[in-house]
Amino acid sequence: MKNVLIIGAGGVGSVVAHKCALLKDIFSKIVLASRTKTKCDVIAGSVKQKTGVEILTNQVDADNPAEVVALIKKHNPFLVINVALPYQDLPIMDACLETKTHYLDTANYEPKDEAKFEYKWQWAYRDRFERAGIMALLGCGFDPGVTGVFTAYADKHHFDEIQYLDIVDCNAGDHGKAFATNFNPEINIREITQKGKYWENGKWIEVDPLSIHKPIEYPEIGKRESYLLFHEELESLTKNFPSIKRARFWMTFGQEYLTHLRVLQNVGMTSIKPIDFGGTKVVPLEFLKALLPEPSSLGENYKGKTSIGCQIKGIQGGKEKTYYIYNNCDHAMVFEEIGAQAVAYTTGVPAMIGAKMMIENKWMKSGVYNVEEFDPDPFMDDLNKFGLPWNELVNIELPH
Ligand code: NDP
Repeated sequence: MKNVLIIGAGGVGSVVAHKCALLKDIFSKIVLASRTKTKCDVIAGSVKQKTGVEILTNQVDADNPAEVVALIKKHNPFLVINVALPYQDLPIMDACLETKTHYLDTANYEPKDEAKFEYKWQWAYRDRFERAGIMALLGCGFDPGVTGVFTAYADKHHFDEIQYLDIVDCNAGDHGKAFATNFNPEINIREITQKGKYWENGKWIEVDPLSIHKPIEYPEIGKRESYLLFHEELESLTKNFPSIKRARFWMTFGQEYLTHLRVLQNVGMTSIKPIDFGGTKVVPLEFLKALLPEPSSLGENYKGKTSIGCQIKGIQGGKEKTYYIYNNCDHAMVFEEIGAQAVAYTTGVPAMIGAKMMIENKWMKSGVYNVEEFDPDPFMDDLNKFGLPWNELVNIELPH
Protein backbone atom coordinates (compact mmCIF):
# COMPACT_ATOMS: atom_id res chain seq x y z
CA MET A 1 0.00 0.00 0.00
CA LYS A 2 1.45 3.33 -1.04
CA ASN A 3 0.56 7.02 -1.19
CA VAL A 4 0.02 8.51 -4.61
CA LEU A 5 -0.04 12.10 -5.85
CA ILE A 6 -2.13 12.78 -8.97
CA ILE A 7 -1.42 16.11 -10.72
CA GLY A 8 -4.08 17.43 -13.14
CA ALA A 9 -7.81 17.63 -12.38
CA GLY A 10 -9.17 17.30 -15.92
CA GLY A 11 -11.07 14.51 -17.64
CA VAL A 12 -8.20 12.03 -17.24
CA GLY A 13 -7.32 13.07 -13.67
CA SER A 14 -10.90 12.43 -12.61
CA VAL A 15 -10.82 8.87 -13.99
CA VAL A 16 -7.45 8.14 -12.33
CA ALA A 17 -8.74 9.41 -8.97
CA HIS A 18 -11.96 7.34 -9.15
CA LYS A 19 -10.17 4.16 -10.24
CA CYS A 20 -7.40 4.47 -7.61
CA ALA A 21 -10.02 5.00 -4.91
CA LEU A 22 -11.55 1.62 -5.76
CA LEU A 23 -8.27 -0.12 -4.86
CA LYS A 24 -7.82 0.65 -1.18
CA ASP A 25 -5.31 -2.18 -0.70
CA ILE A 26 -2.95 -0.62 -3.31
CA PHE A 27 -3.38 3.16 -2.94
CA SER A 28 -3.41 4.02 0.76
CA LYS A 29 -3.61 7.82 0.48
CA ILE A 30 -4.66 9.65 -2.70
CA VAL A 31 -3.85 13.32 -3.19
CA LEU A 32 -5.22 15.20 -6.21
CA ALA A 33 -3.56 18.52 -7.03
CA SER A 34 -4.06 20.88 -9.93
CA ARG A 35 -3.84 24.54 -10.98
CA THR A 36 -7.49 25.14 -10.04
CA LYS A 37 -8.23 23.60 -6.64
CA THR A 38 -12.03 23.83 -7.04
CA LYS A 39 -11.81 21.28 -9.87
CA CYS A 40 -9.97 18.90 -7.49
CA ASP A 41 -12.70 19.41 -4.89
CA VAL A 42 -15.48 18.60 -7.36
CA ILE A 43 -13.70 15.36 -8.29
CA ALA A 44 -13.06 14.54 -4.60
CA GLY A 45 -16.81 15.00 -3.96
CA SER A 46 -17.69 12.59 -6.73
CA VAL A 47 -15.09 10.04 -5.56
CA LYS A 48 -16.51 10.21 -2.03
CA GLN A 49 -20.05 9.78 -3.30
CA LYS A 50 -19.23 6.87 -5.67
CA THR A 51 -16.65 4.97 -3.58
CA GLY A 52 -16.90 6.28 -0.03
CA VAL A 53 -13.17 7.14 -0.12
CA GLU A 54 -11.84 10.55 0.99
CA ILE A 55 -9.11 11.93 -1.22
CA LEU A 56 -7.05 15.01 -0.34
CA THR A 57 -6.88 18.04 -2.65
CA ASN A 58 -4.30 20.76 -3.17
CA GLN A 59 -3.54 23.72 -5.43
CA VAL A 60 -0.29 23.54 -7.40
CA ASP A 61 1.28 25.23 -10.39
CA ALA A 62 3.20 22.31 -11.84
CA ASP A 63 5.18 24.58 -14.18
CA ASN A 64 7.09 25.46 -11.04
CA PRO A 65 9.24 22.52 -9.77
CA ALA A 66 9.67 24.18 -6.34
CA GLU A 67 5.88 24.07 -5.77
CA VAL A 68 5.78 20.40 -6.77
CA VAL A 69 8.74 19.63 -4.48
CA ALA A 70 6.90 21.28 -1.56
CA LEU A 71 3.75 19.29 -2.35
CA ILE A 72 5.69 16.02 -2.54
CA LYS A 73 7.41 16.76 0.78
CA LYS A 74 4.03 17.50 2.35
CA HIS A 75 2.40 14.22 1.29
CA ASN A 76 5.35 11.86 0.78
CA PRO A 77 3.91 9.89 -2.17
CA PHE A 78 5.54 6.74 -3.57
CA LEU A 79 4.87 8.09 -7.05
CA VAL A 80 3.47 11.07 -8.92
CA ILE A 81 0.90 10.40 -11.65
CA ASN A 82 1.19 13.34 -14.02
CA VAL A 83 -2.07 13.85 -15.92
CA ALA A 84 -1.73 17.62 -16.29
CA LEU A 85 -0.47 18.79 -19.68
CA PRO A 86 2.67 17.71 -21.60
CA TYR A 87 4.27 21.11 -20.83
CA GLN A 88 4.51 20.10 -17.16
CA ASP A 89 6.37 16.81 -17.77
CA LEU A 90 9.89 18.18 -17.27
CA PRO A 91 9.20 20.38 -14.21
CA ILE A 92 7.43 17.43 -12.53
CA MET A 93 10.28 15.06 -13.43
CA ASP A 94 12.73 17.60 -11.95
CA ALA A 95 10.70 17.67 -8.72
CA CYS A 96 10.65 13.84 -8.64
CA LEU A 97 14.44 13.77 -9.03
CA GLU A 98 14.91 16.24 -6.20
CA THR A 99 12.67 14.26 -3.84
CA LYS A 100 13.55 10.75 -5.15
CA THR A 101 9.93 9.99 -6.06
CA HIS A 102 8.79 7.68 -8.87
CA TYR A 103 7.00 9.26 -11.87
CA LEU A 104 4.35 8.26 -14.45
CA ASP A 105 2.70 10.21 -17.30
CA THR A 106 0.44 9.69 -20.32
CA ALA A 107 1.82 12.14 -22.89
CA ASN A 108 5.37 13.12 -23.82
CA TYR A 109 6.89 16.52 -23.30
CA GLU A 110 6.36 19.25 -25.83
CA PRO A 111 7.55 22.84 -25.57
CA LYS A 112 4.74 25.36 -25.31
CA ASP A 113 6.03 27.57 -28.13
CA GLU A 114 6.60 24.75 -30.64
CA ALA A 115 4.08 22.00 -31.52
CA LYS A 116 6.68 19.23 -31.61
CA PHE A 117 6.36 16.28 -29.28
CA GLU A 118 9.36 13.98 -29.01
CA TYR A 119 10.78 11.63 -26.37
CA LYS A 120 14.30 13.05 -26.55
CA TRP A 121 13.76 15.50 -23.70
CA GLN A 122 12.45 12.85 -21.31
CA TRP A 123 14.77 10.04 -22.42
CA ALA A 124 17.62 12.43 -21.55
CA TYR A 125 16.63 11.98 -17.85
CA ARG A 126 17.43 8.24 -17.92
CA ASP A 127 20.87 8.40 -16.27
CA ARG A 128 19.74 10.86 -13.62
CA PHE A 129 16.72 8.70 -12.71
CA GLU A 130 18.93 5.61 -12.61
CA ARG A 131 21.45 7.29 -10.32
CA ALA A 132 18.63 8.53 -8.04
CA GLY A 133 17.24 4.98 -7.84
CA ILE A 134 13.80 6.02 -9.12
CA MET A 135 11.70 5.07 -12.12
CA ALA A 136 9.78 7.10 -14.69
CA LEU A 137 7.13 5.32 -16.74
CA LEU A 138 6.35 7.34 -19.87
CA GLY A 139 3.19 7.35 -21.96
CA CYS A 140 0.97 5.08 -19.85
CA GLY A 141 -2.47 6.04 -21.23
CA PHE A 142 -4.14 4.20 -24.11
CA ASP A 143 -2.30 5.58 -27.09
CA PRO A 144 0.47 5.90 -26.09
CA GLY A 145 0.21 3.25 -23.41
CA VAL A 146 -1.97 0.23 -24.04
CA THR A 147 -0.96 0.26 -27.73
CA GLY A 148 2.66 -0.28 -26.57
CA VAL A 149 1.59 -3.05 -24.16
CA PHE A 150 -0.47 -4.67 -26.96
CA THR A 151 2.61 -4.60 -29.21
CA ALA A 152 4.82 -6.10 -26.49
CA TYR A 153 2.18 -8.80 -25.87
CA ALA A 154 2.02 -9.60 -29.60
CA ASP A 155 5.82 -9.79 -29.70
CA LYS A 156 5.94 -12.08 -26.67
CA HIS A 157 3.13 -14.48 -27.58
CA HIS A 158 2.45 -14.25 -31.31
CA PHE A 159 5.50 -13.32 -33.36
CA ASP A 160 9.16 -14.13 -33.81
CA GLU A 161 9.40 -10.88 -35.73
CA ILE A 162 6.94 -7.99 -35.97
CA GLN A 163 7.27 -6.32 -39.38
CA TYR A 164 4.24 -4.10 -39.95
CA LEU A 165 2.33 -2.18 -37.29
CA ASP A 166 -0.79 -0.09 -37.81
CA ILE A 167 -2.31 1.50 -34.72
CA VAL A 168 -5.96 2.23 -35.42
CA ASP A 169 -7.95 4.62 -33.22
CA CYS A 170 -11.65 5.17 -33.79
CA ASN A 171 -14.06 7.26 -31.77
CA ALA A 172 -17.50 6.42 -33.12
CA GLY A 173 -19.21 8.30 -30.29
CA ASP A 174 -21.56 11.26 -30.59
CA HIS A 175 -21.59 13.87 -27.79
CA GLY A 176 -24.16 16.05 -29.53
CA LYS A 177 -21.93 19.17 -29.55
CA ALA A 178 -21.11 20.95 -32.83
CA PHE A 179 -17.38 20.96 -32.08
CA ALA A 180 -15.51 19.65 -29.04
CA THR A 181 -12.31 17.71 -28.44
CA ASN A 182 -12.22 14.58 -26.30
CA PHE A 183 -9.08 15.52 -24.45
CA ASN A 184 -7.41 18.85 -23.79
CA PRO A 185 -8.35 20.98 -26.86
CA GLU A 186 -5.00 22.74 -27.06
CA ILE A 187 -2.97 19.52 -27.08
CA ASN A 188 -5.46 17.76 -29.36
CA ILE A 189 -5.47 20.51 -32.01
CA ARG A 190 -1.68 20.92 -31.91
CA GLU A 191 -1.37 17.17 -32.56
CA ILE A 192 -3.80 17.05 -35.48
CA THR A 193 -2.71 20.20 -37.30
CA GLN A 194 0.97 19.26 -37.46
CA LYS A 195 2.46 17.24 -40.31
CA GLY A 196 1.74 13.52 -40.46
CA LYS A 197 4.69 11.14 -40.19
CA TYR A 198 5.23 7.38 -40.40
CA TRP A 199 8.14 4.98 -40.22
CA GLU A 200 9.17 3.00 -43.28
CA ASN A 201 12.36 1.05 -44.00
CA GLY A 202 14.47 2.77 -41.38
CA LYS A 203 13.34 6.35 -41.89
CA TRP A 204 10.53 8.77 -41.17
CA ILE A 205 8.30 9.85 -44.07
CA GLU A 206 6.61 13.22 -43.53
CA VAL A 207 3.30 14.08 -45.20
CA ASP A 208 0.97 17.08 -45.17
CA PRO A 209 -1.51 17.18 -42.27
CA LEU A 210 -4.45 14.76 -42.76
CA SER A 211 -3.44 14.23 -46.43
CA ILE A 212 -3.43 10.39 -46.25
CA HIS A 213 -6.71 8.75 -45.33
CA LYS A 214 -8.75 5.64 -46.02
CA PRO A 215 -11.78 3.82 -44.64
CA ILE A 216 -10.83 1.24 -41.99
CA GLU A 217 -13.22 -1.37 -40.62
CA TYR A 218 -13.58 -1.25 -36.80
CA PRO A 219 -15.11 -4.17 -34.86
CA GLU A 220 -18.78 -3.65 -33.85
CA ILE A 221 -18.63 -0.20 -35.49
CA GLY A 222 -18.03 -0.62 -39.22
CA LYS A 223 -16.00 1.39 -41.72
CA ARG A 224 -14.82 4.86 -40.70
CA GLU A 225 -12.59 7.27 -42.60
CA SER A 226 -9.23 7.19 -40.83
CA TYR A 227 -6.41 9.72 -41.14
CA LEU A 228 -2.69 9.12 -40.85
CA LEU A 229 -1.13 11.14 -38.01
CA PHE A 230 2.20 11.11 -36.24
CA HIS A 231 1.72 9.73 -32.74
CA GLU A 232 4.36 9.52 -30.06
CA GLU A 233 4.37 5.75 -29.51
CA LEU A 234 5.63 5.29 -33.09
CA GLU A 235 8.93 6.79 -31.93
CA SER A 236 9.44 4.42 -28.98
CA LEU A 237 7.98 1.30 -30.64
CA THR A 238 10.21 1.53 -33.73
CA LYS A 239 13.20 1.94 -31.39
CA ASN A 240 12.22 -0.91 -29.04
CA PHE A 241 11.15 -3.30 -31.84
CA PRO A 242 13.78 -2.70 -34.52
CA SER A 243 12.37 -5.46 -36.78
CA ILE A 244 9.43 -3.16 -37.62
CA LYS A 245 9.62 -2.18 -41.29
CA ARG A 246 6.65 0.12 -41.27
CA ALA A 247 4.68 1.73 -38.43
CA ARG A 248 1.72 4.02 -38.91
CA PHE A 249 -0.99 5.57 -36.76
CA TRP A 250 -4.56 6.17 -37.93
CA MET A 251 -7.34 8.14 -36.26
CA THR A 252 -10.95 8.70 -37.31
CA PHE A 253 -12.51 12.16 -37.65
CA GLY A 254 -16.06 13.05 -38.66
CA GLN A 255 -16.66 15.48 -41.52
CA GLU A 256 -18.27 18.00 -39.15
CA TYR A 257 -15.16 18.01 -36.94
CA LEU A 258 -12.84 18.45 -39.92
CA THR A 259 -14.93 21.29 -41.38
CA HIS A 260 -14.84 23.18 -38.06
CA LEU A 261 -11.11 22.57 -37.77
CA ARG A 262 -10.46 23.82 -41.33
CA VAL A 263 -12.44 27.02 -40.74
CA LEU A 264 -10.74 27.65 -37.39
CA GLN A 265 -7.34 27.09 -39.03
CA ASN A 266 -8.17 29.35 -41.97
CA VAL A 267 -9.07 32.24 -39.68
CA GLY A 268 -5.96 31.75 -37.53
CA MET A 269 -7.68 30.44 -34.39
CA THR A 270 -5.44 27.36 -34.12
CA SER A 271 -2.20 29.37 -34.17
CA ILE A 272 0.16 29.12 -31.17
CA LYS A 273 1.90 32.41 -32.01
CA PRO A 274 0.83 35.16 -29.58
CA ILE A 275 -0.95 38.19 -31.08
CA ASP A 276 -1.39 41.61 -29.56
CA PHE A 277 -5.06 42.20 -28.72
CA GLY A 278 -5.75 45.62 -27.23
CA GLY A 279 -2.38 45.62 -25.49
CA THR A 280 -2.72 42.05 -24.19
CA LYS A 281 -0.76 39.11 -25.61
CA VAL A 282 -3.21 36.40 -26.62
CA VAL A 283 -2.39 32.94 -28.02
CA PRO A 284 -5.33 32.20 -30.38
CA LEU A 285 -5.34 28.45 -29.61
CA GLU A 286 -5.36 29.10 -25.84
CA PHE A 287 -8.28 31.50 -26.33
CA LEU A 288 -10.11 28.89 -28.42
CA LYS A 289 -9.54 26.33 -25.64
CA ALA A 290 -11.26 28.69 -23.19
CA LEU A 291 -14.36 28.74 -25.44
CA LEU A 292 -14.64 25.01 -26.10
CA PRO A 293 -16.38 22.52 -23.78
CA GLU A 294 -14.18 20.91 -21.09
CA PRO A 295 -13.40 17.32 -22.17
CA SER A 296 -14.55 16.16 -18.72
CA SER A 297 -18.01 17.66 -19.36
CA LEU A 298 -18.78 15.59 -22.47
CA GLY A 299 -19.84 12.36 -20.75
CA GLU A 300 -23.52 13.08 -20.27
CA ASN A 301 -25.55 11.90 -23.29
CA TYR A 302 -22.37 10.69 -25.06
CA LYS A 303 -23.41 7.64 -27.09
CA GLY A 304 -21.37 5.10 -29.05
CA LYS A 305 -17.99 3.46 -28.64
CA THR A 306 -14.29 3.94 -29.06
CA SER A 307 -12.20 1.19 -30.64
CA ILE A 308 -8.42 1.33 -30.40
CA GLY A 309 -6.04 -1.42 -31.35
CA CYS A 310 -2.94 -2.68 -33.10
CA GLN A 311 -2.99 -4.44 -36.46
CA ILE A 312 0.24 -6.36 -36.83
CA LYS A 313 1.80 -8.45 -39.56
CA GLY A 314 4.98 -10.45 -39.09
CA ILE A 315 6.59 -13.86 -38.98
CA GLN A 316 6.02 -16.77 -36.60
CA GLY A 317 7.63 -20.17 -37.10
CA GLY A 318 8.82 -19.15 -40.57
CA LYS A 319 5.28 -18.28 -41.69
CA GLU A 320 3.52 -14.96 -42.24
CA LYS A 321 0.91 -14.15 -39.61
CA THR A 322 -1.54 -11.32 -38.97
CA TYR A 323 -2.85 -10.28 -35.58
CA TYR A 324 -5.35 -7.63 -34.49
CA ILE A 325 -5.74 -6.80 -30.82
CA TYR A 326 -8.17 -4.11 -29.67
CA ASN A 327 -10.42 -2.73 -26.98
CA ASN A 328 -13.86 -1.24 -27.51
CA CYS A 329 -15.13 1.11 -24.83
CA ASP A 330 -18.69 2.41 -24.51
CA HIS A 331 -19.14 6.10 -23.63
CA ALA A 332 -22.49 5.58 -21.87
CA MET A 333 -21.19 2.65 -19.80
CA VAL A 334 -18.25 4.61 -18.41
CA PHE A 335 -20.52 7.59 -17.69
CA GLU A 336 -22.72 5.24 -15.71
CA GLU A 337 -19.70 3.85 -13.83
CA ILE A 338 -17.82 7.03 -12.90
CA GLY A 339 -19.38 9.97 -14.77
CA ALA A 340 -16.63 10.06 -17.44
CA GLN A 341 -16.42 9.71 -21.23
CA ALA A 342 -14.56 6.89 -22.96
CA VAL A 343 -11.51 8.88 -24.15
CA ALA A 344 -10.72 10.03 -20.60
CA TYR A 345 -11.53 6.53 -19.28
CA THR A 346 -9.31 4.69 -21.76
CA THR A 347 -6.45 7.02 -20.71
CA GLY A 348 -7.05 7.10 -16.95
CA VAL A 349 -7.54 3.36 -16.38
CA PRO A 350 -4.12 2.42 -17.89
CA ALA A 351 -2.48 5.20 -15.86
CA MET A 352 -3.95 3.68 -12.70
CA ILE A 353 -2.81 0.19 -13.80
CA GLY A 354 0.71 1.47 -14.56
CA ALA A 355 0.89 2.96 -11.06
CA LYS A 356 -0.36 -0.34 -9.63
CA MET A 357 2.33 -2.25 -11.57
CA MET A 358 4.99 -0.01 -10.02
CA ILE A 359 3.60 -0.24 -6.48
CA GLU A 360 3.34 -4.05 -6.75
CA ASN A 361 6.96 -4.15 -7.93
CA LYS A 362 5.88 -5.93 -11.14
CA TRP A 363 7.22 -3.06 -13.25
CA MET A 364 10.02 -1.46 -11.29
CA LYS A 365 13.56 -0.58 -12.25
CA SER A 366 15.54 2.64 -11.93
CA GLY A 367 15.62 4.79 -15.05
CA VAL A 368 13.19 6.17 -17.64
CA TYR A 369 11.11 3.65 -19.60
CA ASN A 370 8.28 3.26 -22.06
CA VAL A 371 5.56 0.72 -21.29
CA GLU A 372 6.63 -1.81 -23.94
CA GLU A 373 9.92 -2.35 -22.09
CA PHE A 374 8.14 -4.35 -19.34
CA ASP A 375 6.42 -7.74 -19.18
CA PRO A 376 2.99 -7.08 -20.74
CA ASP A 377 1.20 -10.03 -19.07
CA PRO A 378 0.26 -8.61 -15.63
CA PHE A 379 -0.85 -5.33 -17.24
CA MET A 380 -2.97 -7.22 -19.80
CA ASP A 381 -4.65 -9.17 -16.96
CA ASP A 382 -5.48 -5.91 -15.19
CA LEU A 383 -6.97 -4.36 -18.34
CA ASN A 384 -9.51 -7.19 -18.28
CA LYS A 385 -10.16 -6.71 -14.56
CA PHE A 386 -10.48 -2.93 -14.43
CA GLY A 387 -12.76 -2.01 -17.30
CA LEU A 388 -10.80 -2.29 -20.56
CA PRO A 389 -11.20 -5.89 -21.77
CA TRP A 390 -9.39 -6.72 -24.99
CA ASN A 391 -10.09 -8.99 -27.94
CA GLU A 392 -7.80 -10.60 -30.49
CA LEU A 393 -8.24 -11.80 -34.06
CA VAL A 394 -5.59 -14.05 -35.60
CA ASN A 395 -4.82 -14.42 -39.31
CA ILE A 396 -7.59 -12.19 -40.57
CA GLU A 397 -7.06 -10.07 -43.65
CA LEU A 398 -5.60 -6.69 -42.65
CA PRO A 399 -5.73 -3.57 -44.83
CA HIS A 400 -1.96 -3.37 -45.52
P1 NDP B 1 -7.79 18.57 -19.33
O1 NDP B 1 -7.52 19.84 -20.04
O2 NDP B 1 -9.18 18.10 -19.12
O3 NDP B 1 -7.05 18.60 -17.89
C1 NDP B 1 -5.75 19.03 -17.70
C2 NDP B 1 -5.66 19.48 -16.25
O4 NDP B 1 -4.29 19.86 -15.99
C3 NDP B 1 -6.53 20.67 -15.94
O5 NDP B 1 -7.25 20.42 -14.77
C4 NDP B 1 -5.54 21.80 -15.77
O6 NDP B 1 -5.89 22.78 -14.85
C5 NDP B 1 -4.33 21.07 -15.25
N1 NDP B 1 -3.14 21.87 -15.46
C6 NDP B 1 -2.78 22.54 -16.58
N2 NDP B 1 -1.66 23.24 -16.36
C7 NDP B 1 -1.31 23.01 -15.08
C8 NDP B 1 -0.25 23.45 -14.27
N3 NDP B 1 0.68 24.28 -14.72
N4 NDP B 1 -0.20 23.01 -12.99
C9 NDP B 1 -1.14 22.18 -12.50
N5 NDP B 1 -2.17 21.73 -13.23
C10 NDP B 1 -2.26 22.14 -14.51
O7 NDP B 1 -6.94 17.48 -20.10
P2 NDP B 1 -7.21 15.88 -20.15
O8 NDP B 1 -7.56 15.39 -18.79
O9 NDP B 1 -8.07 15.60 -21.29
O10 NDP B 1 -5.72 15.35 -20.52
C11 NDP B 1 -4.73 15.21 -19.52
C12 NDP B 1 -3.46 14.64 -20.15
O11 NDP B 1 -3.73 13.36 -20.70
C13 NDP B 1 -2.90 15.50 -21.29
O12 NDP B 1 -1.50 15.56 -21.16
C14 NDP B 1 -3.25 14.70 -22.53
O13 NDP B 1 -2.33 14.91 -23.58
C15 NDP B 1 -3.14 13.27 -21.99
N6 NDP B 1 -3.90 12.29 -22.79
C16 NDP B 1 -3.27 11.10 -23.11
C17 NDP B 1 -3.94 10.16 -23.85
C18 NDP B 1 -3.33 8.82 -24.08
O14 NDP B 1 -4.04 7.90 -24.52
N7 NDP B 1 -2.07 8.59 -23.79
C19 NDP B 1 -5.28 10.39 -24.40
C20 NDP B 1 -5.89 11.63 -23.91
C21 NDP B 1 -5.20 12.56 -23.17
P3 NDP B 1 -6.96 23.96 -15.19
O15 NDP B 1 -8.26 23.29 -15.07
O16 NDP B 1 -6.70 25.01 -14.19
O17 NDP B 1 -6.64 24.41 -16.61
